[in-house]
Amino acid sequence: MVVRDYSLYIKSLMRENNRKNDVDKPVSIWKELDRLRGYPEKTMVCIFRTTGCAWYKFTACSMCGYFNDTSPDIIDENLMHQIDTLYDSLGDTKVLKIFTSGSFLDSNEVHPAVRDYFIQRIKDKVEKLLVESRTEYIRPEILEPFKKAGIDLRIAIGLESADDYIMKYSVNKGSTMKKFIDAASVLNREKIELRTYLLFKPPFISEKMAMEDIMKSVKAVAPYSTDISINPMNIQKNTLVEKLWKKGLYRPPRLYSLAKLLIDLGDEYPVLSYPTGGNRERGVHNDKYDRELLDLIVQGSLDHDFKQLSQYYNSLDLAEYNYHIELEDRMFFQGDYDTLLKRLSSSSITY
Ligand code: SF4
Repeated sequence: MVVRDYSLYIKSLMRENNRKNDVDKPVSIWKELDRLRGYPEKTMVCIFRTTGCAWYKFTACSMCGYFNDTSPDIIDENLMHQIDTLYDSLGDTKVLKIFTSGSFLDSNEVHPAVRDYFIQRIKDKVEKLLVESRTEYIRPEILEPFKKAGIDLRIAIGLESADDYIMKYSVNKGSTMKKFIDAASVLNREKIELRTYLLFKPPFISEKMAMEDIMKSVKAVAPYSTDISINPMNIQKNTLVEKLWKKGLYRPPRLYSLAKLLIDLGDEYPVLSYPTGGNRERGVHNDKYDRELLDLIVQGSLDHDFKQLSQYYNSLDLAEYNYHIELEDRMFFQGDYDTLLKRLSSSSITY
């Protein structure tokens, strides 16, 4: 399930978080649109600062820099203060998404008493809730308090890929498709919805392979998932992916590729994508800035209708893009040629 040296190397890149954070305040709270109830609506998002993902004790996923937002000093009381801050910010928002730098259902990260406090605080205000968790914490007894309080819940699982090989050698997820299916089966039995996250373009595979992986993964997870979020890579600090990218050995995926996936899959499967860092250097982007393409990806995801995106995509000249995608697929590594050229031209090697 894990490659020891790979895991240890990723661990060595994780920096100790020495920043003095306010442990009584969430990392951030904002509003955005999502369609958790089948239509686009205002949704509040809150990231609680916690001690972080259990996986950080050993390693991390190759793209995950959420440990930068954790604090080892958090105690239950701090989390309860964070919950109070969230409560005060809710206003008339009825839909809430909770993120931590790990799993909200991990009782070591969020103690059951804190989860109960959270449930009691929000149950009369929030009509739909999404929380994230690794598969191992998705158990009937952990879900029971949400059900008892009558909370309409969707759990998000970061599967990343349905391919165990990619999960192990590329993502370093410490999980398997079987674990995902077991957790999804628990949710199906408990009649709780599931949002599955797939990571688009993990390291060490070409963009073309990554597109094939998403196509296969969407088909594999669709029977278990209420919806499927295709998350293109965004490069986070102190991660293996950042290290590769800084050396010009990794390029984030292109918007064209993401658009193509949504267009090809969108009629048959409940796929969506709200890219973090879209059109920026560290996120999904084409060689040329394309605001309209990103807007259509997000709008199509909110409406679950990719017709306009398809029309726009079909009007584009994709010759150069297709050339790069094919070239990258033949290369030993998936380089970012602009960065590589910059590195080479600033190199101090002289003859
Ligand atoms: S399981 Fe999630 S939080 Fe934990 S290391 Fe992986 S991506 Fe990060």
